[in-house]
Amino acid sequence: MSKSQFQAPKGTRDIMAPESDRVSNLLSIFEETLNSGGYGQIISPIFEDIRVFQRLGDSSQIVTKEMFDLFDKDPKNPQHLVLRPELTASICRAFTQHRPVTPWKVWYQGPQFRYEKPQAGRYRQFLQVGAELLGSPDPHADVEIISLASRFFQKAGLSNTKLLLNSLGDAETRANYNEALIGYLNLNQADLSEQSQNTMLKNPLRVLDSKREQDQAVIHSAPVISDFLNDDSKKHFQIVQKGLSMLEIDYELTPRLVRGLDYYTKTTFEFIAPGLDTAQNAVGGGGRYDGLVEALGGPPTEGIGFAIGIDRTLLACEAENISVPTNNIEIFVIDTTGGDEALILSDELRQIGFSVDRSFDQRSMKSQMKAADRSGAQLAIIIGTDELNENQVTLRDLRGDGTQIALDRQSLSKALPEMLQEMTK
Ligand code: AMP
Repeated sequence: MSKSQFQAPKGTRDIMAPESDRVSNLLSIFEETLNSGGYGQIISPIFEDIRVFQRLGDSSQIVTKEMFDLFDKDPKNPQHLVLRPELTASICRAFTQHRPVTPWKVWYQGPQFRYEKPQAGRYRQFLQVGAELLGSPDPHADVEIISLASRFFQKAGLSNTKLLLNSLGDAETRANYNEALIGYLNLNQADLSEQSQNTMLKNPLRVLDSKREQDQAVIHSAPVISDFLNDDSKKHFQIVQKGLSMLEIDYELTPRLVRGLDYYTKTTFEFIAPGLDTAQNAVGGGGRYDGLVEALGGPPTEGIGFAIGIDRTLLACEAENISVPTNNIEIFVIDTTGGDEALILSDELRQIGFSVDRSFDQRSMKSQMKAADRSGAQLAIIIGTDELNENQVTLRDLRGDGTQIALDRQSLSKALPEMLQEMTK
């Protein structure tokens, strides 16, 4: 096949059936899981004022390099907008704008955009689902959020995802830890990559986030935050761990787990799928961000949430050989009388809940039969001139031995549910 003139832009892709069937299936599992926890959907804009994300902190890679910029054409209001790189900041912006009653529990789904170097499992447009719980400092809120993410992976059929857990402590803990970390990194600066030496000056904690080979030895021997947790942070973290154990959710304490964004406090977590390439094996992650709403101009409000990458969850499903639930056609209507019968019958059967397909262009019987076989339908309903004259249809079992029976056109809709059930036994 010759290469077409236009391709999907770098770092983006077309997701088509059957892969898109899996996406739909994951989205409905997610929706069901979050609705069962009393979370309501939030649908917010795909683009936002750049300052919403700048509040995430300048040292965040997302903010410094990875945003797609847009500029409003209105000369009187030349607003600098960006395609959203994530949704937590947008949701905190929505919270400060609408001031809903707390605890405010929301879930979302939608595309995010990051100007990244594309590779397997890393795209410039990718789909995330996620949830946020605003307005409660209760460690049980952390447990609820983590458990909902964990149940989602479970319901998707994944059994190898691993939950990594850490606490970054509160502001006091962070300050004490930062001091120790800076001292350590200064001593070992020469062994760090150039990028990490830069990051170190802006946000030392983020050096621990580096996946670069050259940094690993320094990261490995760095002081760990768990040794610095003050009493309040320690107590919070203990309750979170106890809650997860009560729900029989396994986790691995990972003292070096820090998250890319500056606003995280206390609990942080990540779900990894061991079957994926290690640099891109995080299928989801989240944590507490008790200072973010205030940073966006709202009242002091605690928050905790997570985001799950659907594209990587798809890869994890493939790696675990989970079969794709396909959106199967049940009935194929074959009409050799011109097409009007197929038009009417397809509509009639779709209205009573069947998935129905048909051919166009007044194809021959043979060609329509071929299309019916290809469609994967269980049953063909055939209408030829004889059937039309006698006010009948012929039903043909497409998966079994090709048995055909004639049926009154009038009794078709009534008889079909039972017949299909019988056939699929
Ligand atoms: P983050 O918002 O960076 O915490 O990411 C949350 C989840 O989104 C990650 O665990 C990934 O599964 C997914 N993700 C983040 N960036 C990308 C990307 N560029 N392409 C595909 N998935 C991504």
